[in-house]
Amino acid sequence: MLTFEAARKLILDSVSPCGVERVGLLESLGRTLAEDIVAPWNLPANDNSAMDGYAVVSADCLEPGSLEVIGSIQAGGVINSVVISGCAIKIMTGARIPPGCDAVVPVEETEEQKKFVYIKEPVRRGQHIRFRGEDVRLGETVIPAGTTVRPPEISMLASCGRLFVPVYRIPRVAILSTGDELVELGEPMSPGKIINSNAFSLAASVREAGGEPIILGIARDNREEHRRMMMEGLKADAFITSAGVSAGDYDHVRDVLEELGVEQKFWKVAMKPGGPTAFGMKEGKPIFSLPGNPVSTMVTFEIFVRPALLRMMGRQRVVRPTMKVILAEEVRKKTGKVQFVRLRLNREGKGFTGRSSGDQNTGILKTMLMADAMAVLPSETSHFAAGDEVDAILLREDAGMLEG
Ligand code: AMP
Ligand code: MG
Repeated sequence: MLTFEAARKLILDSVSPCGVERVGLLESLGRTLAEDIVAPWNLPANDNSAMDGYAVVSADCLEPGSLEVIGSIQAGGVINSVVISGCAIKIMTGARIPPGCDAVVPVEETEEQKKFVYIKEPVRRGQHIRFRGEDVRLGETVIPAGTTVRPPEISMLASCGRLFVPVYRIPRVAILSTGDELVELGEPMSPGKIINSNAFSLAASVREAGGEPIILGIARDNREEHRRMMMEGLKADAFITSAGVSAGDYDHVRDVLEELGVEQKFWKVAMKPGGPTAFGMKEGKPIFSLPGNPVSTMVTFEIFVRPALLRMMGRQRVVRPTMKVILAEEVRKKTGKVQFVRLRLNREGKGFTGRSSGDQNTGILKTMLMADAMAVLPSETSHFAAGDEVDAILLREDAGMLEG
């Protein structure tokens, strides 16, 4: 049977970025750059002062002495006349260095004397000057395509004069729930029915990953309805179905997708939860058929769908890294499948210890809420002792964060 790593590789090899759009600078936050950003000018554009003080001719100041102050220049100001030997100009941080000057003396190293300034320390040529192009040179690639835009990238883009930024498009992700037992949230309940919560958990997961969810509703357990609603789902950039993908008598998802021309790449993975997960492609678009148990749905989204959506948004790094966790209690499992075990974490010493967040049955949603991380327990090991180190995927960003 396929390992989850092989299944994920197959998915990532199948999907590609959706296309490119130009968005306003601030709208590019969290998106992925679709083109290299090349500096249109030098940064800084001119030599300028790194301190409030005096711009001087350094050759005048090899030892302490007085200079005549012939003017003052503030940030944004310009002096074009050349400063000659024996003279100084009062200068503010960020102001352009006047022609003729080659050093700045911080105000703390001077004494003001009416029209003169006394320089207390010897001056080194170039001191306290930020030189033209020392940060960025005209024509340099400052941000490569494929970079995720964060505040530092926004700062660089703004400094390069970019009002608009080319980024990969946000994928529109259709979500279809299947099952006769489902009722929509807000509709009256009756015996045997359950709320279509997966539509919302999937929509939330899509949104959290940066995609745009489209909730299609519920397809009842008959082929006609599956067909009609799946044709709708196949119009989106990616399509996720929930439930109806195991071996039950009323499980039509895989058959109908195949009828609609979806090429099934796999339909079973050696993992728990999430074994009956199917993946297919049609016209370059991925179709994920996730198992219906809410926990299985979320785990398989995390392992398969999230990385795929990130890749579709142009990201290169799409798989969350695992961290090392020391088990605080023993864990047993069957061999033959990787098992994802919901853990609560505790910061202890340099790292984390983890213990089960409770009942690991896929029908138990509460222990998913209580989980900080998911241990990834290898297929062929059945017993893990307290003190063993295991790999875990962090699920809560605030796990281990401090209160201040
Ligand atoms: P199935 O694979 O169709 O047998 O579904 C497995 C189980 O997942 C069902 O028995 C339901 O308890 C649960 N389930 C299926 N669809 C949903 C849904 N949309 N929201 C919440 N739970 C669901
Ligand atoms: Mg069903």
